[in-house]
Amino acid sequence: MAKLQTPHVAILPSPGMGHLIPLVQFARSLVHQHNFTVTFVIPTNDSPSKAQKSVLDSLPTSITHIFLRPADLSDLPLDSKIETVISLTLARSLSFLRDAFKSMVDKTNLVALVVDLFGTDAFDVAREFNVSPYIFFPATAMTLSLFLYLPKLDQMVPCEYRDLPELVRIPGCIPIHGKELLDPTQDRKSNAYKWLLHHTKRYRLAEGIMVNSFVDLEAGAIKALQEKEPGKPPVYPVGPLVNIDPSKVDDGSDCLKWLDDQPHGSVLYVSFGSGGTLSYNQIHELALGLEMSEQRFLWVVRSPNDAVANATYFSVESEKDPFDFLPKGFLERTKGRGLVVASWAPQAQVLSHGSTGGFLTHCGWNSTLESVVNRVPLIAWPLYAEQKMNALMLIEDIKVALRPKPNENGLVCKDEIAKAVKVLMEGEEGKGVRNRMKHLKEAASKLLGENGCSTKALSQVASKWRNQTAI
Ligand code: UDP
Repeated sequence: MAKLQTPHVAILPSPGMGHLIPLVQFARSLVHQHNFTVTFVIPTNDSPSKAQKSVLDSLPTSITHIFLRPADLSDLPLDSKIETVISLTLARSLSFLRDAFKSMVDKTNLVALVVDLFGTDAFDVAREFNVSPYIFFPATAMTLSLFLYLPKLDQMVPCEYRDLPELVRIPGCIPIHGKELLDPTQDRKSNAYKWLLHHTKRYRLAEGIMVNSFVDLEAGAIKALQEKEPGKPPVYPVGPLVNIDPSKVDDGSDCLKWLDDQPHGSVLYVSFGSGGTLSYNQIHELALGLEMSEQRFLWVVRSPNDAVANATYFSVESEKDPFDFLPKGFLERTKGRGLVVASWAPQAQVLSHGSTGGFLTHCGWNSTLESVVNRVPLIAWPLYAEQKMNALMLIEDIKVALRPKPNENGLVCKDEIAKAVKVLMEGEEGKGVRNRMKHLKEAASKLLGENGCSTKALSQVASKWRNQTAI
């Protein structure tokens, strides 16, 4: 069979919806703007989740997907951190990936492999087949700047980062306390940290890094990333690439109907991303705080987990019926004013709905960007991964979020929640936050326009790939 000549790109998302969703948008842009074809090659350690399948099944025919055979992680302790699970899933999928590469190279004009945060081990397979390795970074430019700086920081700092008396100065970013750096850096002896360091050392092997951010949001970090340095790959700010597929009707569309009946800009959307879970006590306080605020709300709730804040990271679905854990009488008392849905909502449609006026978020980067493009102001409630860094940037640097303060035990109490919700939805401070979001949204729209910087950055990458096409 003759080999297809259209440039073809293999994309390897690491497990987790927060990684798959922005890569899907990236693939859509390559297909629609540059006529490429794409295959998602998906490493797994389990059967695919419903949410994952629903996203992949909705793609156009020029974007195909294959699930690799599940990697065996049965020897891993149950409490292994997500960075370890993701990295080992990939490392143990390389022989399956090699088989997929053989077939793609035979049948298509494969020009690049794109991995995300923790996929750098796949570079070796790409090199075996003379295919260029790239990274799509689905988080902030600040986090990317830290990743490129981490091997140096690791050599300079003898203690735990959280014990450093001085602030950490990530190139181009606001100084940050060591304890606010992303989770795997909080214990340098942990496997999660070792994996992180392993990948960050390999970032320099990439031929380029696309970051899902933009200059109006992160001017300092992007400038620092683009400063030329020997061995540093070029960085392309291509964001904000977000989940915007208004045609898609989800299982949770009941909540869209409910939103249709609410006044314009009146509803606070409350969600902790695909993996976020709260403790039992925290769910109670949040419910009572929402009730006390007297504002309208749409809350995506999952059953509590008192041990970790990311209990549904690989599955999305709530472990038990979350409604059983709400305070007694809460649903009846808030009926009409509030709607609670279990596990998952069609977030892209919720945020673009006119009735949505605020978002209480765990500050996952996709959620943040989705708010920016829909100019929805935020209440920041970081839980895990790099979310504290994102929250710091959103609250102190670009000032588009408010933050309810946790008490000395880490619990955010109902009064604090009610206050933040009221201020965001009705108060003067809320107005300021809302205005700044409006400006960011306008900037984002320009960047993604025909002559916008993000469109041009993606074109640069696409033409590099097209030019290495062997015809
Ligand atoms: N998402 C959704 N419905 C939900 C929760 C999340 O559609 O109920 C989507 C959300 O729109 C975003 C992604 O899942 O695109 C979550 O990514 P993010 O980076 O915000 O957080 P993560 O899940 O990676 O922590």
